[in-house]
This record gives sequence, C-alpha cells and structure tokens, in this order.
Amino acid sequence: MENISMTPDSTSRNDRTAIIRSTHRGEFWKACPGTTGGYLCCGYQIITPMIGCGMYCSYCILQVYFENESRVVFENFDDLRREINEKLSRWPGIVRFGTGEFTDSLHAEERTGLSVAVADLLEAWPQVIVEFKTKSAVVAPLAKIRRPGKVIIGYSLNTPRMIALMERNTASLEERFKAARQCLEMGFNVAFHFDPIFYYDGWEEEYRQVVDMIYETVTDVKKIAWCSLGGFRSNPALKTRLKERQQHLPLFSGEMIIGADGKLRYFRPIRSAIYRAMQEAFFRHQPEAPIYYCMESPEIWEETGMIGRIQNGLPAYLDDRARALLSVEAGRG
Ligand code: SF4
Repeated sequence: MENISMTPDSTSRNDRTAIIRSTHRGEFWKACPGTTGGYLCCGYQIITPMIGCGMYCSYCILQVYFENESRVVFENFDDLRREINEKLSRWPGIVRFGTGEFTDSLHAEERTGLSVAVADLLEAWPQVIVEFKTKSAVVAPLAKIRRPGKVIIGYSLNTPRMIALMERNTASLEERFKAARQCLEMGFNVAFHFDPIFYYDGWEEEYRQVVDMIYETVTDVKKIAWCSLGGFRSNPALKTRLKERQQHLPLFSGEMIIGADGKLRYFRPIRSAIYRAMQEAFFRHQPEAPIYYCMESPEIWEETGMIGRIQNGLPAYLDDRARALLSVEAGRG
C-alpha cells in the first residue's frame, strides 16, 4: 500500500483525496443490512476492508453514514483474513461477497491493492464468488488476480445526463464500458447496476440507450452475472443534509412517498413504469437477462411480472447465477 498517511489531521479528515490508516475492531464480514418493511433483499455478504470514497455522488448515502470525508483503510488485514477463513469453514453453501457497500471497490485500487488482496484471500474457496462494484475505470491492477473467473466486476451505470449532474469525479459512461470490455478480455465476469434510476423528462429513452450499450459491449452474455435495477430512494437524513448545503433540488424536487422502511421513494406507479421500461429494454436483447430489483416491494415484483421469473426467491436465484459462473471457472481448472 502506498501514499497512505498514518496520522490524520483535521484537514485530511475532510479531504476525499486523503487515505488514512486505522485499525478495525469489529467484524469485517457482515450480511448486507438490506432494508426493513418487507422489501425484497438479495442476501449479499459484505466485506469491509476500507470505508469512504474519493469520488462524489450527490445521492450517496455515505454522506450521512460517516462523519469524515476521507477514506479509511483498515491496516489489520490479517484479522480480516482470519475472520473470513474461519467463518467460511463453517458456511454451508454459495457465498456472494461484495466490498462496495461502504466504498467504491476499485477507485483507490492502485494505491491500496485491497481488491487484489481480497480476491487472493478468497481464491481457495470453491463456493465463493466476489463482486467489486465501481464507478471508476480502474483496470490495470486487476491483472494480478490469478482466477478472474471467480470475480465479478460490477459497473454502476446511469445516463450521461445523470452522471454529469450527480456523479462528480466518476468515470464517464464510455470509460466504464471500455473498462468492462477490458475486464471481459481478462477473463472476469461482469455485472451492471442501474441504481439509482432517476425519473426525469427523457428518462425512458436515455436509460434504454444505456442498456443497448451493455449489449454492444458484451458479446458473450453468459459472462453477465446479474443486472440490478433500483428506482431512486433515500434516507430522509440525506435530504436534510443536502438542504443544509442548498444541494437538494435536483434530487428531491419531484413528489416522493415515505415507504414502509422509512425511506423516501417514488410513487408506486412511477416505479412500476420504470421497471417495465427497463425490462423491455433488456429483453429486446436477451429474453433471459438476469435482471432483478434491489429492495423493492412484493407488490412491484407482482405487478411487473418479476415474481414469475424468479420463483424461488431472489437469494436462491442469485446463488444459481453464481453457481453457473463458478462451474465454468472450475471447468477451466
Ligand atoms: S461512487 Fe459510490 S461510494 Fe463513491 S460517492 Fe458515488 S455512490 Fe458513494
């Protein structure tokens, strides 16, 4: 690990370019907290070797989770390794890990090497797949990963207009697709995440064009692990935080409701319209596209026909996808 300061001062704590070292005393592996109120979750498992992000998305919930803006790398990676190996020895089936819950998994990879270290740690476990989610176009350090077939590089996507408006310092859409193409050539699997999807004048056509770009990029669709869809939703605390800075309007200008989980989200007819349009955009290219909704209500699953496609529940469906990718990887030996 390089260029990482040991002694944070008050300046670096509010500097998104800074990376500070610390020791993590709690668990490194936790189940994704998902959400409450009956919304359907995916059973993802989260490893957290680092927190904070060097990019800035105005909708990012990390703004209310963490007091400081700087990134923090936990230097006791040996404790992380011990905990993961010990828990995996008792875990009965497939595990889908991700590291992108409290940071971007790849943006700082050149400085930290953490994703390569996590892939290295998980390499020996045949039932494990790990996803590194990103809005960056960082690819080069991934060449060190020995078993790319056990790894999914997950690109968070949005329309060029929303990227320009909401996602400061992230890679452009073209750069993300170029990076995805390079990852496929290196043998990685890919995933795509439309979360959050925004509802604005022109949304339908613009999101459809982004879906088209996926299929211009990926020629072997078996390499797409999954694609998630999530209409914009937010903790009300974020609205309050952005209001203090007069930055809330682009995000919260439309009418939203408070859902059963206490989060602000679009009205149900809007969410249904978004998901129907996205399904149509995907199914034109791939009738069996592995799409699912992130933290949506059973009513939305029902009225948009998703429940008929994913009959055994979302965690089992995604475990099956992971199993299929891992069996291809095992076959390559
Ligand atoms: S890239 Fe992800 S973690 Fe970073 S600011 Fe944007 S939403 Fe937050």
